[in-house]
Amino acid sequence: MATFFNSIGRSMTRAPRNPKRSPTPTSATSATFPPEAQQIKGTPQQQQQAQAPQKPLYLCSPFVEAALVKGNFKTIVMLPKYVDIMEWVAVNMFDFYTNLNEFYGVLTEFCTQQNCATMSAGATLNYTWINQDRKHVHLPAPTYIDYVMTWVQNMLDDDSVFPTKSGQDFPPSFPSTVKHIYRQLLRVFAHIYHAHYAQILHLRSEPHFNSLFAHFLAFGTEFELLEVKDVRGSSSSPVGVGALWERWKGMGILGG
Ligand SMILES: [Zn+2]
Repeated sequence: MATFFNSIGRSMTRAPRNPKRSPTPTSATSATFPPEAQQIKGTPQQQQQAQAPQKPLYLCSPFVEAALVKGNFKTIVMLPKYVDIMEWVAVNMFDFYTNLNEFYGVLTEFCTQQNCATMSAGATLNYTWINQDRKHVHLPAPTYIDYVMTWVQNMLDDDSVFPTKSGQDFPPSFPSTVKHIYRQLLRVFAHIYHAHYAQILHLRSEPHFNSLFAHFLAFGTEFELLEVKDVRGSSSSPVGVGALWERWKGMGILGG
């Protein structure tokens, strides 16, 4: 287990990183998907399955096994030799955010105020946003996700949070900031799996999306960025992807 949370006190010298900038949510890479992907209906069978609360589609074969990366994700999340751990975490955060942003970008026409009036992630789970008055408020999913993605993008763009210049240290708060970001990105994944998996299937993106999420989970586990309670939820309001996480752990693809 890498000691991301214990390593912040060390003095570090870093190579400069080329700052990456992500596309805005509205300029997603829909062009890389077939034109037919714009019409989302799903087969009658898919629609029927999507309505069955007992077994979400993302837990069904062959979708649950679909991935671009075969084998164990631990091998691609481990800290490479001679790479600074802060740098490694920062680069991966850029990638997770950028990829998730692109996926969500192609789903925005389905994730609307009407279709997704709450930030749902399970049959009895709706996330709340904490507003400026520190009150928990229910927001439509597209509003919630827009807040999350804008908030993360602003931090990635902020050199005092994600330093990009050589010789510039990461702030002491970096590990806790990353953990905070991780929790919110997990919620976006959880909403997409819960509310938009039929559309992911129709786009034939499930191998890509499963790979991205498995990578995200494996990385979060390796560097202690994920809270188990955030992935599972509570017994009265479980997170839908908690069951997927258990399945993948059982299949041995997340490492351990
Ligand atoms: Zn939605």
